[in-house]
Amino acid sequence: MRATAGQVVQLCKGHTQEDMIKPPPQPLHVLFRFLRSNARRHMSASGYCPKCNTTHRLPTTMEARHQAQLLHQTLRSKNPPFTISRRGKMVGVLLCQDSEGRHKTLKAFAGSVNGKWHLNGWSPVVGGKGTAPNELPTYVNIQNTQNKLQVEQNDLAQRLRDCPPSASDADIALIRLELKEMIDKRRQLAWTALKETRKHQHVSNFCGEVDLLQHVFARNTRQPATDGSKAERQRIKMPAGAGDCCAPKLLADAARQDLTPLAIAEIFVGDTTMKKEGEFYDACKERCQPVLGFMLCGL
Ligand SMILES: [Zn+2]
Ligand SMILES: [Zn+2]
Repeated sequence: MRATAGQVVQLCKGHTQEDMIKPPPQPLHVLFRFLRSNARRHMSASGYCPKCNTTHRLPTTMEARHQAQLLHQTLRSKNPPFTISRRGKMVGVLLCQDSEGRHKTLKAFAGSVNGKWHLNGWSPVVGGKGTAPNELPTYVNIQNTQNKLQVEQNDLAQRLRDCPPSASDADIALIRLELKEMIDKRRQLAWTALKETRKHQHVSNFCGEVDLLQHVFARNTRQPATDGSKAERQRIKMPAGAGDCCAPKLLADAARQDLTPLAIAEIFVGDTTMKKEGEFYDACKERCQPVLGFMLCGL
């Protein structure tokens, strides 16, 4: 939750009138810095839960941020557990407690690293071990077919480029048609592969409920029809990579291990136009928020 102007006013309400008069007028940049740091303190994972008709939230804390910064330092050390690609990487920590009150910190990276979905000591993919794409035989078979088609597609594209000026329009049209069919086939295979991974993304929450991530996403992204009727509803397509972010991986892992999450922090390693080195980020709006309402339910 980010700080809003309303929250700043609330903070001011706690001050005595004398306090309110005492401080000298602050330049605007000081106010902006305060708003920014205050917003960071509130960064968290959250999502609307239709069952409870409320937004469930998991806060961030100074300790969670400290643990995330330590993780960031490890990944920037001389011997990091994995190398960070040019695109950077989100990593996150989840501070938890077991049934006997002992504290445990889970850590996760978004997506895969260096072609690996699992690394010892890190939370696995959202569906647990054995459900990563490269562990699913059907997915691997599709991937192999796609790789073969890619080679054939490259050859066809090369043939098209090498066509002599004397080549007939009919010959060129035929190669183009073959190329198009191949691209369509690869696209269809990519969709089948994605569907295969989604069949294994079972997630549980802290009420003991288990559901497929795609069902949770579909339920939580139903939009009421503009005319107010209940019959017509629009659905938002689940984006590729849903469930691969740190927050769902960490929460799924905590639920599997019967741990109670206390706080979360996600930090970026890398420097891109979208995200900055060492900055903290909330769980994302597009892929995470639609499933976090379910995943945080029962906390
Ligand atoms: Zn996300
Ligand atoms: Zn709920």
